[in-house]
Amino acid sequence: MSGKRDTKLYLHLKKWLEKAAVDYNMIKEGDRILVGVSGGLDSLVLLNLLNTRMVFLPQFSMLAVNVDMGFDQEYRGYATLEKYLKENGYEYIMEKTDIGPLAHSDYNKKNPCFLCSRMRRKRIFEIANENGCNKIAFAHHKDDIIETLLINMFYGREISTMMPDQSVFRGKFHIIRPLAYIKETLVKKYAKEKNILAIKDMCPTSKTSRRLYIKRLLDYMEKDNKDVRENIFKAMSHVKMDYLPSRDVDGRALYEMSAE
Ligand code: SF4
Repeated sequence: MSGKRDTKLYLHLKKWLEKAAVDYNMIKEGDRILVGVSGGLDSLVLLNLLNTRMVFLPQFSMLAVNVDMGFDQEYRGYATLEKYLKENGYEYIMEKTDIGPLAHSDYNKKNPCFLCSRMRRKRIFEIANENGCNKIAFAHHKDDIIETLLINMFYGREISTMMPDQSVFRGKFHIIRPLAYIKETLVKKYAKEKNILAIKDMCPTSKTSRRLYIKRLLDYMEKDNKDVRENIFKAMSHVKMDYLPSRDVDGRALYEMSAE
């Protein structure tokens, strides 16, 4: 139901969140959704939007979960986030871990993100299981999906990205991304409109990550062609298999067997 105070931006975001949820059948009646809350703007906006009245979505319940990475034991962001969750009436779990320092230890310095996201995700699945959640919502938006496609191509030699709805552990859980159709700029704008404040990102890698590099590359390209991001996003739905390398009888792409 639209209220008097619903802004144009809120209605726009709600429309596209619901469209993504309906297109991918993300939410079913009675779902218990663990919402991953890092404390960044994206996750807090997702939590806020899911907590508003949706027209096309069935009844569901939510549990906000923050897995603190343990980068700075003294940092006050943890307490700020807890205060925000409490004051806004969310059911929540906050857990302190040492995942951040572990992922940055000497033996793993080269690629901390891989181990970090793996360990964090493992703990999130455990918390989902312990609390009867069948869906896990992450706040990845349209820009994250575009950037991940490029990261996987540039560094991982494959064409893949984050799925809006992904079944895991043989369907025991579903990872859902209700912001899949929403641009990062609008998420940030909405956070400002609602006075939602992020807690400080204390990870030493976040300023040098591959994602940030790709983000800057896309910003640079958009100076010449403002549709670059949108074109990449749309391209994922227009894959011309006939114009990709054919496969041999064992299913291996022929380019894969060529010399480097
Ligand atoms: S940027 Fe930092 S917090 Fe994010 S995945 Fe990488 S190591 Fe973890």
